[in-house]
Amino acid sequence: MLDLAIIGGGPAGLSAGLYATRGGLKNVVMFEKGEPGGQITGSSEIENYPGQKNPGESGFDFMSTWWTQCSHFGLVHKWANVVQITQNQDKTFTIKIENGESQIAKAVIVCTGSVPRRAGFVGEDKFFGRGVSTCATCDGFFYKNKEVAVLGGGDTAVEEAIYLANICSKVYLIHRRDEFRAAPVTLEKARKNDKIEFITSATINEAYGDNAGLNGLILNTKDGERDLKVPGVFTFVGLDVNNGILKQDDGLFLCEMDSNGQVKVDLKMRTNVPGLFAAGDLRIDAPKQVISAAGDGAVAALSALNYIENLH
Ligand code: FAD
Ligand code: NAP
Repeated sequence: MLDLAIIGGGPAGLSAGLYATRGGLKNVVMFEKGEPGGQITGSSEIENYPGQKNPGESGFDFMSTWWTQCSHFGLVHKWANVVQITQNQDKTFTIKIENGESQIAKAVIVCTGSVPRRAGFVGEDKFFGRGVSTCATCDGFFYKNKEVAVLGGGDTAVEEAIYLANICSKVYLIHRRDEFRAAPVTLEKARKNDKIEFITSATINEAYGDNAGLNGLILNTKDGERDLKVPGVFTFVGLDVNNGILKQDDGLFLCEMDSNGQVKVDLKMRTNVPGLFAAGDLRIDAPKQVISAAGDGAVAALSALNYIENLH
């Protein structure tokens, strides 16, 4: 039996793994379906993690040392897509994996984070991967010296618009309101960039194209319809939390959630189910930052250590 199962290997899961193994737990497995690192590895830059030697480095480079450090202290990475967590009568937990395997653990920390949301315009799904993208670092280069559009008004949209402006000939930043959620300092940077044209109070009505991919977007703007002939659009319209593994066979969640599907935790990252903890983007009131996810992971691991120590 595992002492502790950590589900997800982003900043929260890796930090939980570091604190759990350094805290003396011997049998700790981090279930991560991909490479450890989490969603920040898809970001073109990060500059707000305290103590960074290279502010502005890519998320991938920034996270590259985290796993090395964790494995040094004995954290095991099991490359697995977890499909469900259930609780047994003896209060242990069963972690069910996609391939049919399962493992039992005394305690679990859920750190499954979040994924980009779809915007919902006509043609978004049809052209996804053929002009519609949610990752500028991955796909930006395909549009070198071409015009592209970015949808959204949060930190991700504005930061990625600035990144794309370094590669593309022009970036149209489309946002449905005049006010932005993005940090003022980031917005200021974008406004000063000659290659970025702001199109506010506008939505994408339709993406159109042919077999080769996207050819353009029909926008609804305050001045009427606008046809934007771009081969690429990057959508950054928020995130959905990955809470599916907590869903039970009866359709209810294993622990209490809020109305947005985020896990309710206390300041020790404890859910209402003893032995089950949650950390990072998927918990209530998460600031959705690497620093806070990492902090959550550490707190959750310390709470799990305390919980396991007191089991008899
Ligand atoms: P995640 O990073 O989402 O990690 C969750 C992990 O769980 C993933 O690796 C996933 O593969 C794994 N997983 C999910 N479900 C399962 C399953 N069923 N089985 C196994 N594994 C599973 N924050 C900042 O502080 N500064 C920034 O500059 C910044 N820039 C960003 C730019 C972009 C483009 C994006 C998308 C986010 C950015 N963020 C930034 C936010 C930051 O990335 C997140 O807040 C942080 O990564 C959350 O960490 P997490 O560990 O909670 O979740
Ligand atoms: P976000 O803050 O939720 O912003 C989503 C944006 O998309 C909003 O501007 C929203 O408009 C718009 N939107 C939502 N649904 C839409 C739709 N269907 N069609 C068109 N527009 C739509 O998401 P995010 O930018 O991905 O950021 C997520 C979290 O990560 C945030 O907490 C953010 O601070 C954090 N993050 C931080 C950094 C950083 O610290 N440097 C970088 C990236 C992300 P409205 O504003 O009108 O609602």
